[in-house]
Amino acid sequence: MSENENLAKEKTLFGKGIDNPSNILPKKLTFDSKIKFECHPGVSCFTACCHGIKIVLTPYDILTLKKRLGLPAHEFLEKYTTPVYLEKTDMPGVAIKLREDKDRNPCPFVTPDGCTVYTDRPSACRYYPVGMADFHEGQGSMGGDADRMEEEKFFFIVKEDHCKGFEEEKEWTVREWRKDQGVDVRDEMNKEWLRLVMRRKSFGHQASLSDQAKRMFFMASTDLDHFRRFILESTFLDTYIIDTETLEKIKNDDVELMLFSFKYLAASLFGAEGLPIREEKVQERVKEIKESQEKQVKESVEAYKDIKKARGEEVDPEL
Ligand code: SF4
Ligand code: SF4
Repeated sequence: MSENENLAKEKTLFGKGIDNPSNILPKKLTFDSKIKFECHPGVSCFTACCHGIKIVLTPYDILTLKKRLGLPAHEFLEKYTTPVYLEKTDMPGVAIKLREDKDRNPCPFVTPDGCTVYTDRPSACRYYPVGMADFHEGQGSMGGDADRMEEEKFFFIVKEDHCKGFEEEKEWTVREWRKDQGVDVRDEMNKEWLRLVMRRKSFGHQASLSDQAKRMFFMASTDLDHFRRFILESTFLDTYIIDTETLEKIKNDDVELMLFSFKYLAASLFGAEGLPIREEKVQERVKEIKESQEKQVKESVEAYKDIKKARGEEVDPEL
């Protein structure tokens, strides 16, 4: 199976963009809607959906999985992930690297007895079969009203043909299902990062991200060990104003560091407020921009003079 075929199916956590929309049942659900579904070792298809599937990892997924496996981020990334672009954007991320197998391509964490990292399984593995969407992708804390967004959230059922979980008798509300799967916590941990991706997606291809911005997004989203060194050991603290309490938290607490990284990315990629820059750095930047503009004006005047000279025309001495 090729890598593309390998990743053709997707357990999505972005709410939309599922490859086969015919698998989505055409009914909007709320937190109180009832669903009939159960997945357990007794179903005949047990672990079928842990093969040949694209599972994109969020920063929180990486944090919990690397901790579970006792690995530093770079080792986890090298051993268990493959690079992908997120949600048809130019933002780089990672998905789980499936094991090579001539026809089934299993997730590296699956065994016949089930998922070996179950309590720390990725967000995308928790959502199926309940997808979530809201009408304000790409806004949220960077421009939307959080309460209104919460109200406008809705859910839908994704029903894979091979999935026998729908033949089980267990009935739950969407709210109960999400609580059981630990989705609420994941939503909270992932939301700012998902909004960055969806916000980028909403730009389409109008403006491309610089390579440096892509590298920064990738580093902050996948390797918090590296991001922490970047904050503490580069000129970062000379540029941004960070209060002592926050600094202590991000030195010692990975989740705080991750949440801070979302704030930093929102500010550096989209100009969101919330991360003040030191006044002297603002002045330096203004000076740099002014110098660069003056240089550009000078260069275009010189180019204009050269054209005039080449044509044998007189050049205005005032220029
Ligand atoms: S992480 Fe676990 S639940 Fe998710 S695909 Fe792999 S084995 Fe299945
Ligand atoms: S296909 Fe459905 S029932 Fe079967 S293991 Fe996956 S989620 Fe469970």
